[in-house]
Parts: sequence; C-alpha cells; structure tokens
Amino acid sequence: KQIYGAPVVGEHGRWLGVVIVMHDISELIRLEQIRKDFVANVSHELRTPITSIKGFSETLLDGAFKDEKMLISFLDIIHQESNRLQMLIEDLLELSRLEQHGFSVKIMPTSLQEVLIRAVELTSPRLDEKNMQFNVDIARDVTVAGDFNRLIQIFTNLITNAITYSPENTTITLRIKKNDEYGIVEVEDEGMGIDKSEIARVFERFYRVDKARSRNSGGTGLGLAIVKHIIEAHYGKIQVNSTVGKGTCMIVYIPLRKKRN
Ligand code: ADP
Repeated sequence: KQIYGAPVVGEHGRWLGVVIVMHDISELIRLEQIRKDFVANVSHELRTPITSIKGFSETLLDGAFKDEKMLISFLDIIHQESNRLQMLIEDLLELSRLEQHGFSVKIMPTSLQEVLIRAVELTSPRLDEKNMQFNVDIARDVTVAGDFNRLIQIFTNLITNAITYSPENTTITLRIKKNDEYGIVEVEDEGMGIDKSEIARVFERFYRVDKARSRNSGGTGLGLAIVKHIIEAHYGKIQVNSTVGKGTCMIVYIPLRKKRN
C-alpha cells in the first residue's frame, strides 16, 4: 500500500486536521506478476521446440543424414516440433486478439445442434485414431444468441481435450439442454478426470495438470484460456464436474437472448 498524508491548515495557521490518501497497489503488483509469468512461460514454451529443432538438424548436418533411418526419424521430430511452434504462435495470436479491447463476437440466433454437428465432423479423425466413439444426444435443438464460428471453436477445443485426456475405446457424450436463461451443452468424457484443487487453474494460460502428457499430445496449454474468453464474450459461463479416474463433464452455458452489445 502507498500512503500519503498532508496537514490541513486553516486561517491563522490553525490545524484543522489531516488528509490521508491511500492507494491500494496490491492489485497492480498482482497484474504485473501475471504479466511477468506470462512472458516467462511464452519464452520457455517457444524455446523448447526451437532447441529440439536446432539439435536434431545439427546432428543431421554433422553426418547423421547418411543413415536413412536416422534421417527419417529426425526429420519427423523436426516436422512435429515445427507444427507445435506454429500452433503455439497461432494460439498466442488468438489469445491476444481476444484480449484486445473492442473484440466482439457476432451474435446471431444460432442452432446448437448445427454447431455440434460441425464440431463432431472436425474432431472425428482424432476420435477414430483412438478408437473412441461419440454418443450424441442432440436431437432436441436449442437456439442461442451466439457467434456460429466462435461456438464451433469452443466445442472443438472441449472435444479435443476430451479425446486427449481419455484412454482408447472410451465414449464422449454430447448433450443439448436448456433452462430459462441459457442453452446448455455438456461434453462428457470417461477420461482421467481433473482433481478438485486443479479445476479453477486449468483455465489459466499455460496451466497443465500433467505437462508431459499435454505436450506430447500436441497441446499448447492455451486451449481452455481461449475457450473461457469466448464464453465470456457471449456473457455465458462454463462449469466443470470431474472425478479423478472416472471422467470430466464440461458444461457450457450460452444465453438464449442477446444480453448486451
Ligand atoms: P492443453 O493444450 O494442455 O490441453 P488446455 O488449456 O486445453 O491445454 O487444458 C489445460 C489442462 O487442463 C490440460 O493440460 C489438462 O491437464 C487439463 N484438462 C483439460 N481438459 C481435460 C479433460 N477433459 N480431462 C482431463 N484433464 C483435462
């Protein structure tokens, strides 16, 4: 806290009292710390793939390219790491766009059913790779006040996570519901679950429960931060129900009617 004091003196130099001004700068310090952590995280996340791209290309140039097996395996790693770098940069740009003042979603009457059908199409290849299946309970449609493409982005992200953090041969269930105020979508998996103490933190940028697992599966650690921003731009909310070892249910609420501009 910063505190300034000054005496208040009246006519003939008589003391009337003291004015004290207090600035609570703890919030500013906290924001500054978040900014510093973010820069440190970004630097670390960028450095990891670059170090690996540099190392493997140098080894190849030093002669390893003559061994065809090594050539292919190292090129494969270089290719994967460049992809990771590209995804990370795209997610960072996306996050910074979402955080710009004036970012707005194009709110129109939008069918949740159409959104989910598209999100299912986009995520099916990954689902098939893991021999998983969808259980889709979206026969009843609900129209919400949403931005079609942004809603697709929310659900492809949530479904991709459900696939990533579940074992093979499990099921992902999608449900559409509603209450008086919101259209509700549930994305439920039979995966590893999230511990109670971590639930609030998974929406933070770069927070991962299991760093190695997330990286290996191509995650940037920014997906849920992006999801939360888009939901808030809709004046919606997201709730997480999860049991470790059993699975996770992500519940997204999008207003039925346009709230504000
Ligand atoms: P990532 O790129 O690491 O998946 P996200 O922001 O999408 O980044 O998610 C943050 C973290 O939340 C993940 O690293 C993972 O630990 C956890 N998480 C997200 N979705 C799920 C889920 N469906 N089941 C279990 N853990 C999850």
